[in-house]
Amino acid sequence: MSDEEVIDFEQIEAETELAAPEIFAGNLLEWAVERKASDLFISDEEQAVSVGIRRLGRVEHVRKLSRDYGRRLQGHVRVLAGGDPGEMIRPTEGRGITVTPGGRKIDLRLSSMPTLHGQDVAIRLFDPVSGIRSLDELGYDDSELSLMRQLLREPSGLILVAGPVASGKSSTLYAMVDELNDGTRKIHTLEDPIEHAIPGVVQSQINERAKLGYAELLSTVLRHSPDVIMIGEIRDAKTAATAIRAGSSGQLVLATIHARSAAEAIDSMLHHGVSPKAISQALLGSINQRLVGKICSECGEQLPGQKPEVETRVASRLGDQSAELWKTTGCDTCYGNGFEQMTCVPEILAINRTLKDVIASGSTAVNLEDAAKNDGMLCMAESLAARVYRGETTAHEAHRVIPAPHFAKLRMTV
Ligand SMILES: [Zn+2]
Repeated sequence: MSDEEVIDFEQIEAETELAAPEIFAGNLLEWAVERKASDLFISDEEQAVSVGIRRLGRVEHVRKLSRDYGRRLQGHVRVLAGGDPGEMIRPTEGRGITVTPGGRKIDLRLSSMPTLHGQDVAIRLFDPVSGIRSLDELGYDDSELSLMRQLLREPSGLILVAGPVASGKSSTLYAMVDELNDGTRKIHTLEDPIEHAIPGVVQSQINERAKLGYAELLSTVLRHSPDVIMIGEIRDAKTAATAIRAGSSGQLVLATIHARSAAEAIDSMLHHGVSPKAISQALLGSINQRLVGKICSECGEQLPGQKPEVETRVASRLGDQSAELWKTTGCDTCYGNGFEQMTCVPEILAINRTLKDVIASGSTAVNLEDAAKNDGMLCMAESLAARVYRGETTAHEAHRVIPAPHFAKLRMTV
């Protein structure tokens, strides 16, 4: 990359200093991926075109462009991401791989839609180099890791992963598959989209247009003698029923499901028409998760004299470590944000005989959660509190992710 092509986005003041849109697009993508942005937005406003990114869970404004220049940039990014550059009326989708001026390969998923002032172009960014992370790298603590590995050691059954959009569910599924992928098992995945290629694993892409949904592909996979099946998402009755059948008849099935808590994931299966008895027999565990910013190792600092009172259940998770509160100021390493990456906060409901009976009796999610907590499960807020006290994240960040009164109170002390 020559010197004149290097663009410092924060320094650009005037439109005339901008390079041609195609050069700007390549550098913008590189700049975004370097900052670990998950999404890039180029959106028409009344007087301008606004560029933004989502980084570590938050939207950050990058800059505004003139309408004309912004439109050309949108068109170019649409081409890079395999979309039709001229389609302004209908929503469009696209997929593409591009190489930035710095030689970085980026996988792009485009979606654009018409808006009041023109169009909104949203691009999800996947950096294939960072690839699949192992279970040890996701942010689980030792007791959570051992519980996860205990679930994965089972030869058959169903493991559900719940959480909202962008809560790292697919990273968890990939890490689980990676853990199981030791060459002794036949592993199939059904995905939409396939985010990473995994050597040694048979991966299939859902294609709704060709009427190849999860349910259709799952029925076919069962005839391919799988040991492990990863299902991108259970979102209909037929997939739910087939996943239960597979989990009860010798396969280990890993799947995400739309639910707000580990206990509610079981409710979601019931809503898809699965019987309480059937789910109680097949289910090994249900994991609910969120992503939280991990304090920057350069600018994070412990708050002196702050010794928060820790709830007994959370204290057991801290072990010998004393509870502390930390804050961040922002520095060059974290691009001023105070956090260096997102880390996973799980709530792991591992099924035992008692919980099996609670589920089989058709109990509500609230009752199941109470039973699991009696059994030692840390709920999401407790699991997050342990991370605050360990100095992995701040009370502010915890409150952003889970707006519980407890975190609001802790936030006041910072
Ligand atoms: Zn920092």
